[in-house]
Amino acid sequence: MKQVKVKIQDAESPVMSYQCPKCGYFEFEDSSMKKAIAEIKAKEEILQIRQKIIKLSQDRLGMYINRDVARSLNLKGGEEVFVSVPDKNHLVVSINN
Ligand SMILES: [Zn+2]
Repeated sequence: MKQVKVKIQDAESPVMSYQCPKCGYFEFEDSSMKKAIAEIKAKEEILQIRQKIIKLSQDRLGMYINRDVARSLNLKGGEEVFVSVPDKNHLVVSINN
């Protein structure tokens, strides 16, 4: 079996996997998989804040950025940000500073 490190989205540590070069059999090593899952969960807990989308004029919508978020991202107001929509469940605001 060949050892291969796999990077999983949102997890810091790579997950160790074992692959058979002959038949393509593939399995994840249990302890590193558990570690990656714990990291993903921790990230979600830290970053997830429940908020309401507010109605502005003329069909436009808005969202408040609370003080703690602004402080941790070093936002003062007036910055230009990039908004992307990777899928129907995510709105990503990227700050370029
Ligand atoms: Zn095999």
